[in-house]
Amino acid sequence: MEEHNPGPGRKGKILVSACLAGEYCRWDGGTNLVPEIKSLVDSGNAVVVCPEELGGLPTPRLPSERIGGRVVSSDGRDVTAEFRYGAEEALWVCKEEGCRLAILKAKSPSCGKGIIHNGLFDGGLVQGDGVTAQLLMESGIAVMTEQEWLDSQAASSSAAPNDPPCS
Ligand code: SF4
Repeated sequence: MEEHNPGPGRKGKILVSACLAGEYCRWDGGTNLVPEIKSLVDSGNAVVVCPEELGGLPTPRLPSERIGGRVVSSDGRDVTAEFRYGAEEALWVCKEEGCRLAILKAKSPSCGKGIIHNGLFDGGLVQGDGVTAQLLMESGIAVMTEQEWLDSQAASSSAAPNDPPCS
């Protein structure tokens, strides 16, 4: 029996990283608020997920980074299962809400797209995707970082027609 039916009229939302919408779910208890993304949520056009919390990890928590196919916390604990579970939960929300686009926090071992921390906990970066971003993309969901989305919005605004229509 399905327990989480979001009901009619809520299809087609954008999935966003909860920390971008101002939730204090970052590993250190902080947020990564982007006001424009919070506005998407406040207007009912987006739904938030924090895959690491969905995976059962507490906030605050130790930072984690991807090392190949695994995810490891800074104390050496393997948290791959929690990250994968959180990714599956985020995908479930995507499907339930009809999301075709996800705006996810850059560089995160869960939410990062294209570039993530290198697994050495030294601030270095490598090419790669977070566990959730990877699963969503493999499942046909378009993923943008917050900056990519902001840039696309700015480009859309600047491309707005300002010439008078032909007569
Ligand atoms: Fe933000 Fe994603 Fe990290 Fe949660 S898992 S704090 S949503 S970057």
